[in-house]
Amino acid sequence: MDSSEVIFIVLLALVGLVVGSAVNVAIVRVPEGASMITSRSKCLSCETELAIRDSIPVLSWFMLRGKCRTCAARISPRFPIVEFITALIWAMLAAYALEHETLGLLPLLLIASAILIALFVIDLDHKRLPDRLTFLMYPVVLIGFVIDGLSTGNWPIGSALIGAAVWLLPIGGMWFLSAGRGMGMGDVKLAPALGLILGWISVGSAVAGLILAWLIGGVVAIGLIIFRRASSGSAIPFGPFLVIGFWLGVLIGAALSEGYLGAVIN
Ligand SMILES: [Zn+2]
Repeated sequence: MDSSEVIFIVLLALVGLVVGSAVNVAIVRVPEGASMITSRSKCLSCETELAIRDSIPVLSWFMLRGKCRTCAARISPRFPIVEFITALIWAMLAAYALEHETLGLLPLLLIASAILIALFVIDLDHKRLPDRLTFLMYPVVLIGFVIDGLSTGNWPIGSALIGAAVWLLPIGGMWFLSAGRGMGMGDVKLAPALGLILGWISVGSAVAGLILAWLIGGVVAIGLIIFRRASSGSAIPFGPFLVIGFWLGVLIGAALSEGYLGAVIN
């Protein structure tokens, strides 16, 4: 990796921090049905508008020691964590795109990941995936495909559609069979968007990503039941696992599925 590539990754991580702030705004405002752009961010306790110096990603939280400057109410560490995770994922996707020479798909992966981080946290908080964010994925996917298609000359539309089906059918089936209890309608709406992107990379990526989502979801559910954090009847939101499966599908899905096929053929 040469120095220009390192600079590229660091720059995207810094932009990721700022985008992480916007993700935090979405996490607070979208479930309330509030506008994303009309007003400045406020303290959730005293509603004082935040000054610029108190709006610097990650740093402001540490400088304020996790307390509002006006009312001293505790500010959740989740805010800097979301900003940091967004930066980390942006840096990882940038490094991956450089190594695999797939820069054409990078804009889509970055924007989709920002939306998915918001959906991840909202699903944990509210046990739902708001349509406003889920349906935003589809135009983002479409524009991302056009950017990648024009830059590479490849248009793997058939593969993308297979990926969408690979994700939609099992998750839609689970929703149908469990009458909406095991799997929410929000998961069913989100799944094809993730399958489209993974399928555009490769059908193997889509299959591997979905299997990993299911495996990790199963392990965590069993863990929660063993440690009595959840009963076997309580609902564990599945959206976060879809999101984790998507990222793993992007980063290691193709390698996993090729390794598996290689082992089967040999
Ligand atoms: Zn305050």
